[in-house]
Amino acid sequence: MKIALFSARKYDRDFFDRANAALRAPHDIVYIEASLGAETAAIVRGRGFKCVCVFVNDTLDAATLEILAAEGIQLIALRCAGFNNVDLNAAGALGLRIVRVPAYSPHAVAEHALALLLTLNRKTHKAYNRVREGDFSLDGLVGFDLCGRTVGVIGTGTIGSVFAGMMVALGCRVIAYDPQRNTALAEAGVEYRPLDELWPAADIVSIHCPLTPETKHLINADSVARMKPGVVLINTGRGAIIDTRAVIAALKSRHVGALGIDVYEQEEGLFFVNHGEDILQDDQIARLLTFPNVLVTGHQAFLTKEALYQIARVTLSSIEEFETGTALTNEVTQAR
Ligand code: NAD
Repeated sequence: MKIALFSARKYDRDFFDRANAALRAPHDIVYIEASLGAETAAIVRGRGFKCVCVFVNDTLDAATLEILAAEGIQLIALRCAGFNNVDLNAAGALGLRIVRVPAYSPHAVAEHALALLLTLNRKTHKAYNRVREGDFSLDGLVGFDLCGRTVGVIGTGTIGSVFAGMMVALGCRVIAYDPQRNTALAEAGVEYRPLDELWPAADIVSIHCPLTPETKHLINADSVARMKPGVVLINTGRGAIIDTRAVIAALKSRHVGALGIDVYEQEEGLFFVNHGEDILQDDQIARLLTFPNVLVTGHQAFLTKEALYQIARVTLSSIEEFETGTALTNEVTQAR
């Protein structure tokens, strides 16, 4: 099948080419650096594409989907787990099928959440710079033992359950909130609690739920005020689960002790691109970057060799299922 792969980066090309070469009937993949949206959708015009392959910050709103459908696109292959960037109602009405990669490496994302937490707590980023300047002083590098601390995990699906397991292994008490309890985790000692009990109990809150209308700004002025003073917030879920403005205010008042984010509310158009020569127009991210206790990474939690290969393999296999008329194992439907 002829596939237009949007938001293509070098690592996408490397891993998709490798997975494609392993197929009996390789697909014809055209790598397009631009992100997909209503302004760029016409790139597919008249080129015989049947599938577009997209990533987290491509926009699949009704306007974009209408253009794609009119140009003969039948399948949208998301090379990610989240699908909050797709208007599922519009896709359904246009007869477009959607597939995603529900789980590629939960370890990649959970380990990155742990990396954010450990870096912020033990300040290894500061130590790295200091020592290279010949400064071996320790002032300002004091952390705390994670062992014995209470970690609140929001969302205990594929990734959250791996993260919760890692925190149990580190000797933490883990409390969790998820509308769907994971019995294996509960048996391993994770305590499920309603949010109003989780907020005041957790020393660390790590977010692993999807972005939905219910979870948008779940971390807001009200929920932050109910958290412990000095709470460490980690978000590898989706940016808009945190109300950035409210968290900036709580960082200024020192109520939030540290913030580690791999995702950001306004990351579209900012992340995945080198803006080193630009003037940052987004005052919120600019403010966040001034705090010594904030660590921002540019949506890289998924970026391991294992995850990239699995993403490419599963995406191409879903496309193959569509091409051969087989049931779509990883289809996203409106009912989800
Ligand atoms: P998953 O579907 O396996 O698990 C999500 C869990 O969240 C489910 O158990 C669900 O019941 C729970 N949930 C739903 N609504 C909730 C709510 N209101 N409060 C608390 N929990 C709720 O998904 P996953 O693979 O574990 O991924 C979780 C999220 O992580 C994805 O939706 C995606 O947004 C994000 N993600 C980020 C990266 C990255 O690189 N930063 C990579 C992959 C996934």
